[in-house]
Amino acid sequence: MRLRSSTKPVVLVLGSGWGAHSLIKVIDTDMYDVVVVSPRNHFVFTPMLPSTAVGTVEFRSLLEPIRTSNPCVTYLEAQCETLDPEGEGGGGEGLLVQSTHLLQLSKPWQMQIQYDKAVVAVGEQPATFGVPGVKEHCFFMKEVTDAVALRKKIAEKFELACLPGTSEQQRRAALNFVVVGGGPTGVEFAGTLSDFLREDLRKKYPALMPYVRVTLLQSVSSILTQFDERLQRNALSNLTSSGVEVRTNVRVVGVNKDKVLLKGGEELDYGVCVWSAGNAPRPLVTQIASEASRLSPGSKLCVDSFLRVVGASDLLALGDCSLVLGNRLPATAQVAGQQGAYLAHLLNSGYNLGVGGYTQPPPFQVVPRCTLQVRRTKAQRMCLYVP
Ligand SMILES: Cc1cc2nc3c(=O)[nH]c(=O)nc-3n(C[C@H](O)[C@H](O)[C@H](O)COP(=O)(O)OP(=O)(O)OC[C@H]3O[C@@H](n4cnc5c(N)ncnc54)[C@H](O)[C@@H]3O)c2cc1C
Repeated sequence: MRLRSSTKPVVLVLGSGWGAHSLIKVIDTDMYDVVVVSPRNHFVFTPMLPSTAVGTVEFRSLLEPIRTSNPCVTYLEAQCETLDPEGEGGGGEGLLVQSTHLLQLSKPWQMQIQYDKAVVAVGEQPATFGVPGVKEHCFFMKEVTDAVALRKKIAEKFELACLPGTSEQQRRAALNFVVVGGGPTGVEFAGTLSDFLREDLRKKYPALMPYVRVTLLQSVSSILTQFDERLQRNALSNLTSSGVEVRTNVRVVGVNKDKVLLKGGEELDYGVCVWSAGNAPRPLVTQIASEASRLSPGSKLCVDSFLRVVGASDLLALGDCSLVLGNRLPATAQVAGQQGAYLAHLLNSGYNLGVGGYTQPPPFQVVPRCTLQVRRTKAQRMCLYVP
């Protein structure tokens, strides 16, 4: 299906997160028909999600509707299920993508969209590592809906603890907030939650404060393992002084409706359990990367410095779902946002990004201290957008 009658090349963007959002803000819609496919019709400012979960930031202030971000793009609320770079139309024109509209739950309605270039910016999904009960009983910290549901559950647990019929043991269990995962998201959420419970809720529920516990469980011997040791120690000491009980070398082997089960047989009663133990590739990424050479050891799509997926025609990838070969960048909003704008500038400048296209190194690259290193090429006017 070609969505518009114009003869402009179609750039299909999968996703509405940091990478896709920044790309559609910069891409020239006079040059391209831009079609955005994502199950989420808005961009989310993820760094503020923990504050939304505790109610200190209103969730609406984190969102921007995609139709507002760039009214000139065509947006489809759908989820891309398969992407066939070698589709019926052959290389270049006429490649196919198949999507299932989420609102048609009983019999999914499918459509195929023609594109000239596809940009995969679908991020990653929470990894459960197959631990039983996680999907059913834990909260995640990925979408605004997660944060809103979590906020409601925290309030419910405090009200439950206030009821006259609630026993001491039930009160203690209801107010034990367990966070699984000592990475940046888990650590930030545990600290934010503890501050909120002990500073803000203290005023509403002073009698319940002796029962409140925030427990952070980490499977290895330190938290924030991707940072240096001094930072790890500082974070640990800050968390502890704000009242978080940090337990390291603890492996969760199961979660049921009221207990977190630890390796070795220990069981922890809990009121709310937040799972923040890492990310895994989305099924679409695994499908695209079915050729082993396109999948990095971390299960990301390997791309070159032009963000072209290795070995594929007219297929680009950026953000958390990708890995730039020879230049491993952290999976952060800053990287995804800058890659989105970078790719838009390349497209706006008319670079041929298909296989066999431009093979020289990119005209610029980010260097430490956030300065811009510019090579002497005609692309000198380009600059990176820093969100
Ligand atoms: C709670 C939290 C706090 C964070 N704090 C920070 C921070 O302070 N600083 C920082 O730099 N980074 C932070 N991050 C990380 C940052 O959010 C990610 O690195 C960033 O979102 C990656 O951007 P992305 O575009 O690759 O993917 P995402 O932003 O995850 O976007 C993926 C998009 O793809 C869509 N999608 C999924 N599947 C499909 C499909 N099959 N078809 C079409 N679309 C699909 C999704 O709906 C979504 O719109 C935080 C993350 C979280 C969860």
